[in-house]
Amino acid sequence: MRVAMISEHASPLAVLGGEDAGGQNTHVADLSVALAAAGHDVRVYTRRDDPDLPVLVPMRDGVTVVHVPAGPPEQVPKDDLLPYMKEFSRWLAAQWQGDEWRPEVVHAHFWMSGLAAIAAGRQTGVPVVQTYHALGTVKRRHQGANDTSPARRVGYERALGRAVDRVIAQSQDEVRELVRMGVPRSRMTVVPSGVNETFSPAGPSAPRAGRARVLTVGRLVERKGFADVIQAMALVPEAECLVVGGPPADELDTDPYAVRLRELAASAGVADRVRLVGAVPREDMPYWYRSADLLVAAPWYEPFGLTPLEAMACGVPVIGTAVGGLTDTIVDGQTGDLVPPRDPAALGAAIRALLDDRVRRFGYATAALDRARQRYSWKRAADQLDGIYAAVAGVRRPSGVVA
Ligand code: UDP
Repeated sequence: MRVAMISEHASPLAVLGGEDAGGQNTHVADLSVALAAAGHDVRVYTRRDDPDLPVLVPMRDGVTVVHVPAGPPEQVPKDDLLPYMKEFSRWLAAQWQGDEWRPEVVHAHFWMSGLAAIAAGRQTGVPVVQTYHALGTVKRRHQGANDTSPARRVGYERALGRAVDRVIAQSQDEVRELVRMGVPRSRMTVVPSGVNETFSPAGPSAPRAGRARVLTVGRLVERKGFADVIQAMALVPEAECLVVGGPPADELDTDPYAVRLRELAASAGVADRVRLVGAVPREDMPYWYRSADLLVAAPWYEPFGLTPLEAMACGVPVIGTAVGGLTDTIVDGQTGDLVPPRDPAALGAAIRALLDDRVRRFGYATAALDRARQRYSWKRAADQLDGIYAAVAGVRRPSGVVA
């Protein structure tokens, strides 16, 4: 089928680790590649944020990225993008009304993409599937006054849930949130993210200096809980902690949050054991995961959370906070440990106990690898979505039955 992915702020071609570039970029890139491998013709529409970007950029066989002129051709924080969504959707509708390439289904990622997709889809008669990636209700609950999302986000998200042809939830926790918001359960299907096959135990790994290594990965934003991890390290003698993500290494000295984390490490007495690595290209991530004895993911909340899954696929045990998607991916006591969020003492105790127990680490690593391979392949996600796309588009499968 011809599938249009809409990912307004998160380009699959972007460099990751920055404030607005993380899981959604990875998800859209890997999912598009998996759909193309299954025979679909995929176009990914993302906002043009640089005047030098061509409109069409081939990404892989069967995947083309389309840079949509909507708003200024420069980086704009995602929370300021709403005013440009009308322009975005008009451009899509105009493209799809021409005869060059018209999708049979639109899959929108994040709520603003959903708004653009619904408007363009209605004009052109193309059905819309929605993945939220994150929900405004959850963000507001955790960030309160610090939440810079547009005020109408939650209302739009609720309306979208009722307007689209199918909602894809990524975890059971997201299903519960959506139901609480008033989106009918019957409109949803759970399809978790996958993990790319380059994440595997075999291959080179970053050098180590003899100490046990705790790794934590993500955009350098407060809700990822890096401050909690650094404080927890004070309870873990000897081990080192590497923080991967954020701006490029040579910009860490001037990044306000990186500076704060370093100050915190100094005041917790662990500055010599905590190292900020900065942004790492996506293709180098397995190299860092493989070097770790365990991965810590300590978000305050997390819609899905790719980094624990990537570590699991590299055969690395995970300690995660019991929030959002992490409660589905990490099986407590089998593939890793779950601890309460925002609790450095509990996290420190869990890290220490697991580093002291080589047998349990080995057991977790083996089970984690199995789980990642069997339950979270992109092929599996693409197969599930293929069925959903066909159903909403009313495509007849060879059996003659409407899928
Ligand atoms: N990532 C990366 N380089 C970095 C930091 C992160 O490639 O320096 C990737 C990481 O491997 C994962 C994604 O960014 O694929 C982060 O996704 P996650 O779901 O953990 O968090 P989000 O950014 O969506 O909040």
